[in-house]
Amino acid sequence: MVKKSKLEEKLLMKNESGWKKMEKKQKDIFSFCKGYTNFMLNAKTERESVSEITKNAKRNNFKNIKDVKKLKPGMRVYAVNREKNIALAVIGKKGIEKGLNIVVSHIDSPRLDLKPNPLYEDKDSGVALFKTHYYGGIRKYHWVNTPLALHGTIIKRNGESVSIKIGENPDEPVFIIPDLLPHLSRKFQDTRKLPEGIKGEELNILVGSIPVKDKDVKEKIKIAVLDRLNKQYGIVEEDFMSAELEAVPATIPREIGFDKSMIGAYGQDDKICAYTSLMAVNETKNPEKTSVALFVEKEEIGSEGNTGMKSMFFEKFVSELVKLTTDYSEIKVKNALSNSKALSADVNAALDPTFKDVFELRNASKLGFGIVLTKYTGGGGKYSASDASAEYIGKIRKLFNDKKIAWQTGELGKVDEGGGGTVAKYLAEYNMDVLDCGPSILAMHAPYEVSSKADVYSAYQAYKAFFGSEL
Ligand code: MN
Ligand code: MN
Repeated sequence: MVKKSKLEEKLLMKNESGWKKMEKKQKDIFSFCKGYTNFMLNAKTERESVSEITKNAKRNNFKNIKDVKKLKPGMRVYAVNREKNIALAVIGKKGIEKGLNIVVSHIDSPRLDLKPNPLYEDKDSGVALFKTHYYGGIRKYHWVNTPLALHGTIIKRNGESVSIKIGENPDEPVFIIPDLLPHLSRKFQDTRKLPEGIKGEELNILVGSIPVKDKDVKEKIKIAVLDRLNKQYGIVEEDFMSAELEAVPATIPREIGFDKSMIGAYGQDDKICAYTSLMAVNETKNPEKTSVALFVEKEEIGSEGNTGMKSMFFEKFVSELVKLTTDYSEIKVKNALSNSKALSADVNAALDPTFKDVFELRNASKLGFGIVLTKYTGGGGKYSASDASAEYIGKIRKLFNDKKIAWQTGELGKVDEGGGGTVAKYLAEYNMDVLDCGPSILAMHAPYEVSSKADVYSAYQAYKAFFGSEL
């Protein structure tokens, strides 16, 4: 590399690999990422994430807010919403009304959901299958011929809840969507445009092929599958109606590359931010401002619903914090929200070495170059963006520079190339400052996404610095 002149050193933006910036921390980075890959193995769905986060919170002295009568600085509480959404708070020395430091990540990831009436038998081919409706922005062709596991919850007729997780252990079966063989795809499939290569209604999962012996049964394979499920879980066909079953990649997180510098795992968007902000809030003790780590779902489909960012749950949580620390009034809650500082902890797209054309190189984030500050998301003339102010970015940038955290800038692709959104704009509706801030990912939304260990670690450091700060 050419050495920079003094003038260049003084004037140019630093664009340095996180590995170089954190040369002395390589051991810490690798050991921190062991915890991360372990979390990723056990938290493939939003429910599993909430369960893991709750267990971890309890181990770190967070108390259920329902069991708390009064909150004092330094105390730690959590609240769970419908098993799919959770908030953790460490009470600060300053009153809640002065504002909170909030890091919000999402714990849902693109996947294939089973339809409410999923099971059918294809008599011609002699197999039983599940119909699916994909969830979030997937490239459908990624999901064929890859082993899938089935995770979820079924509420039976009697109200009893059954948890299902099958396909993760080597002795359990997996599920698959068979693609057409190349020998016969030429006319029927190869001429389709890529997004239509596999169509939504073609995402049908193979689930069985042995028929029942009973001669009177019409759909022998379908009934055989139901009979097996009935024996194992006590369910009948109608129970699928009151279920949330998700087909997710049956893969385990692995290190990638000869140097093991990268991580491959399903669902790193956005559990990479969930895990790092969880570890950061765990280590936050006696902060000036109350620190909140919020984990929402339904981000991948627009933050809708009662467990997404648009739900009142978060606002209610802040109301509870006000109520438990001082005399409650509505204006105090509104002040708390307006005075808050938030990081929308979500991933950006790392520059793809093979598809550079869709990126604008001066503003693209790079794998391993540290946590990404994304001034705005949206697309096509900043439409639908939450555009962080110069003042707020100024504060975050100074904080990260002071704490020597590896960070970089990032914009999602070239202007008019596409775009995407996060929870940032919903946080901004509370009149708080918010900035998108998370690691960059290669192959985002693919069944196996790639991150850099250096970025995982810099995200953790960044969130920790943010929680401990008074901006
Ligand atoms: Mn995301
Ligand atoms: Mn996403």
